Amino acid sequence: MTKFSRCVKEYEKLCRRNDVPEETVMAFLVELSQKERYNLYANFNEEMPAQLEAEFRAGMERILKQEPMAHVLGYSWFYGYKMIVNGNVLIPRYETEELCAQILARTDEYFADLETIECVDIGTGSGAIAIVLAKEEPRIHMRATDISEEALATAMENAKLNEAEIEFTAGDMVKPLIAQNVKLDVLVCNPPYIPAHEEMEKAVVDFEPHVALFGGDDGLFFYREIFRDCRSVMKKKSFMAFEMGWNQREHISALIEETLPECRYEILKDMNGKDRMLFVYFGL
Ligand code: SAM
Ligand code: GLN
Repeated sequence: MTKFSRCVKEYEKLCRRNDVPEETVMAFLVELSQKERYNLYANFNEEMPAQLEAEFRAGMERILKQEPMAHVLGYSWFYGYKMIVNGNVLIPRYETEELCAQILARTDEYFADLETIECVDIGTGSGAIAIVLAKEEPRIHMRATDISEEALATAMENAKLNEAEIEFTAGDMVKPLIAQNVKLDVLVCNPPYIPAHEEMEKAVVDFEPHVALFGGDDGLFFYREIFRDCRSVMKKKSFMAFEMGWNQREHISALIEETLPECRYEILKDMNGKDRMLFVYFGL
């Protein structure tokens, strides 16, 4: 048996040695023990219960080998909602929470008089974006798609877990929506946008699905597809919301001006001051 304080210190040191952020240790312990951080600190000089210590040590050993904490736990938190995650879905990112908040602000601003807001999340992965939008704006009728059947299975589990009503369809980008003759107020997509040959952290590239990450040679493959096909699914007054890479402003702007010259658009920064969100407006 080991005291909390000793065990935490031991792994913080190992994290520093293995290039894992040492904050991970307390974050992991908070989740495993299901206690608030201040409660853990208040009992820091007590012995750790044997089972908790065993689980904590086993999990930390995986984390030290760069496995994401969310995979060890089997879930992660997104906008206050619990999301099951596994190797078939991207672990939802903080930046994407900001995208959700910006979308919700715009549905209030532009669609105050609509009773139902038709919305799709293309490439839903864990279902994170679709679930937040469906839960936070009751007027939204939510659809979600993905090319990966495995991802959709996880998204469906998450919808159930969070009691969100969402229509799921498997398919390639805008194609299933065109096939179903859907007309949208809001199209959301956080596509894979990493250029194919970019160097990435081991924790991401070894553990997260490549179908969720890479967007062709320049990272813009999926934006091109959507910009080309979107006119047949967007209503006269509607908008599209995308996440984008921090260094894609110039190329994305040029692409919109070329392919959607009638649309107003804006690029917003994330909390780290990096270009991260793209809004494209039809008739608004
Ligand atoms: N929406 C989730 C989020 O924000 O956390 C996941 C986003 S992840 C960056 C991109 C998602 O697009 C993956 O789930 C991947 O399976 C899906 N995807 C990749 N190619 C696709 C395609 N051609 N059509 C539809 N979805 C696709
Ligand atoms: N933000 C993710 C990362 O850096 C990538 C997400 C995406 O391609 N849409 O790993």
